[in-house]
Amino acid sequence: MSRNAESTAFRSALEVIRAVEPRVADAIGAELTDQRESLKLIASENYASPATLLAMGNWFSDKYAEGTVGRRFYAGCQNVDTVEALAAEHARELFGAAHAYVQPHSGIDANLVAFWAVLADRVESPALKKAQVRQVNDLTEADWFALRRELGNQRMLGMSLDAGGHLTHGFRPNISGKMFDQRSYGTDPATGLIDYDRVAEAAREFKPLILVGGYSAYPRKVNFRILREIADSVGATFMVDMAHFAGLVAGKVFTGDFDPVPHAHIVTTTTHKSLRGPRGGMVLCQPELADQVDRGCPMVLGGPLPHVMAAKAVALAEARRPEFADYAQRIVDNAQALAEGLSRRGAKLVTGGTDNHLVLIDVSGYGLTGRQAEQALLDSGIVTNRNSVPQDPNGAWYTSGIRIGTPALTTRGLGTAEMDQTAELIHTVLTQTTAGANADGTPSKAKYTLDPALADKISRQATDLLAPHPLYPGIDLS
Ligand code: PLP
Repeated sequence: MSRNAESTAFRSALEVIRAVEPRVADAIGAELTDQRESLKLIASENYASPATLLAMGNWFSDKYAEGTVGRRFYAGCQNVDTVEALAAEHARELFGAAHAYVQPHSGIDANLVAFWAVLADRVESPALKKAQVRQVNDLTEADWFALRRELGNQRMLGMSLDAGGHLTHGFRPNISGKMFDQRSYGTDPATGLIDYDRVAEAAREFKPLILVGGYSAYPRKVNFRILREIADSVGATFMVDMAHFAGLVAGKVFTGDFDPVPHAHIVTTTTHKSLRGPRGGMVLCQPELADQVDRGCPMVLGGPLPHVMAAKAVALAEARRPEFADYAQRIVDNAQALAEGLSRRGAKLVTGGTDNHLVLIDVSGYGLTGRQAEQALLDSGIVTNRNSVPQDPNGAWYTSGIRIGTPALTTRGLGTAEMDQTAELIHTVLTQTTAGANADGTPSKAKYTLDPALADKISRQATDLLAPHPLYPGIDLS
């Protein structure tokens, strides 16, 4: 691919946009500059390829395509069929999945599709069968009322938020917590690791309809074979949300017991985190759930986004190349180098290290809250996000943790030596930041002091670290 082609493509696109609303063109250009200059350690972000980005910026966006490949509620969907079928085929091949549904617009949407597919399979279909009708419209009012109560009275067991689970795994601020009666499994307070015996015990007591595996902030591998055995022992459907680590599954870093696809009945993911695709979601499932999953639109999704499905097909094709496996391994090597560098300098890490793409620093070891640490790092040109740690005394807003991840910096080409230097920068900022006080002298969870000259110096060092690894080297907008 000639670098010139990428520059021409993006320059021309901006020229066309600028002719209509120059401020949007300027903001797009400024975003590239900002992303190029920041040391991005946000575990859920990445940099999609120019081909993936370009596949989204076109007239596929204009097309309505409710339905599935070859069975649409709109005419003229032959080209949408091509890209949706391609994305699904790449997904099935990449993950060894029986079925792939590539329409979800985001990870949350993918989870909603999965929940409703399981509810339809396990609750609605048996109710229809019992009432001897084909569809809900044919139910008597009394049977419909009973079914609605039944659907809203199901149980979910998932990982607790402070142990690293996601909001969509049954927590009250999310619809999943309102739909399901939820219980959580946490981690062992001594090791920070999932205690599978405790999960089994909770499953035996609670008897969930759905057992959810997967996480947003757990720095270790999960044994999905054991979780499946637990699900089977209580008749639960086993769902895994691999949004964070899909790239490590795709790149065959997580195999055997640690690959969720052969073990789970249904797997959901985002496509934009470690998988490095466009913003979006996806559901993989075993054949018996395929029909229900394919009803995601209009059950809980609006019409599919054909331009994003085109970009998913491009990104998944990229993930099937051998160099993606190399990339996935480097993500983990980098995370481990970062964890070792931080530990060696005295940082307190949840579970003591990492097996995946993320590291969770317990910043109470530096006398800070997550909010103070996040802001002090940002002042110093290091972009991270605050996160709860297990049994966090500071709650989900201030938190006691900083979550850092390596997918984005690994895409830029930084390696383990640079991760050690990154650890040094982070440790220096956190040791030099002091927690502030409120006007009445009580300790503040938000205020902090950090010498601006030091923040500037670290910022320059972060820029120096990035300089040999330009972001989108083929794109010159000047
Ligand atoms: N599932 C997990 C485990 C996540 O970490 C996230 C996002 O952070 C989501 C789902 C939601 O993804 P999205 O923001 O695409 O809806």
